[in-house]
Amino acid sequence: MINKVVPELPKVLSIAGSDPSGGAGLQADLKVMAQLGVYGAAAVTALTRQTSEGVQDIYTLDSNWVLTQITEVLYDLRPQVIKTGMLQSPLILQGLAKIWRDYQAVEKEAVLVVDPVLHSGTGVSLLDKGGLKAFREELLPYTTVLTPNVPEAEAFTGMQIKSTEDMEKAARLLLDCGVQWVLIKGGHFQQDRGEIVDILYSSEQIYDFPGERVPAQDPHGTGCTLASALASYLALSYSVPESTARAIKWVRQSIANAIYVGKGRPVVCQQS
Ligand code: PLP
Repeated sequence: MINKVVPELPKVLSIAGSDPSGGAGLQADLKVMAQLGVYGAAAVTALTRQTSEGVQDIYTLDSNWVLTQITEVLYDLRPQVIKTGMLQSPLILQGLAKIWRDYQAVEKEAVLVVDPVLHSGTGVSLLDKGGLKAFREELLPYTTVLTPNVPEAEAFTGMQIKSTEDMEKAARLLLDCGVQWVLIKGGHFQQDRGEIVDILYSSEQIYDFPGERVPAQDPHGTGCTLASALASYLALSYSVPESTARAIKWVRQSIANAIYVGKGRPVVCQQS
């Protein structure tokens, strides 16, 4: 028997909630990573009871257990990229920030992609009270790329976002928290428009990614898919702007190919 060791194997650890319907969360993340040729690992933060019709319930895991699970897999696999999704509780957020700081001290090139999941597409809260504050104070100062949609950027900044100028103001506030790059996804405030623009900001650079709105029935899993594709391209050694451009292309294709898998919303899908 021959076992291969691949020294530069690109690896991403997803730290997120479980969606048993397979449209979002860990399950969606792992599919994207496999499709992009990256080794995907997955540490679960919370279990949802969920179908294509929405989230029915959330089962909270013990936060110490969650954090130990993350630490063990992190130092075993040593992934180049960590991607976070639903983190659910302030305790998990605080603990993760500490784990990440310690890891980055030894893996200096490692990067952290944070998809700040606050609500499900059907409006169920996926972050407990106190979570926003913990995000702002504990995790954002160490985040390489943050990927909020407009409602999430509004929740973090207290602003109302109605224009691309507002998007930039919100991005500046988030960069002031210590985030290195902010990708604000414009889809929500541009709902009535034919063109949408996602914008990537750092303290020195701005990149616009305009595109035609893909006609689709609000598919499930867009945020997780975008952040996982971005994390995967970073693990494949593309720069942040290039990874963003590729991830946006990937998610727009996945929206165009969305499929109905059950009674509720369609899910994003890469294959047509
Ligand atoms: N369930 C889990 C575990 C998630 O992480 C997310 C989003 O990140 C959702 C549900 C919601 O997905 P959507 O906004 O596509 O409904």
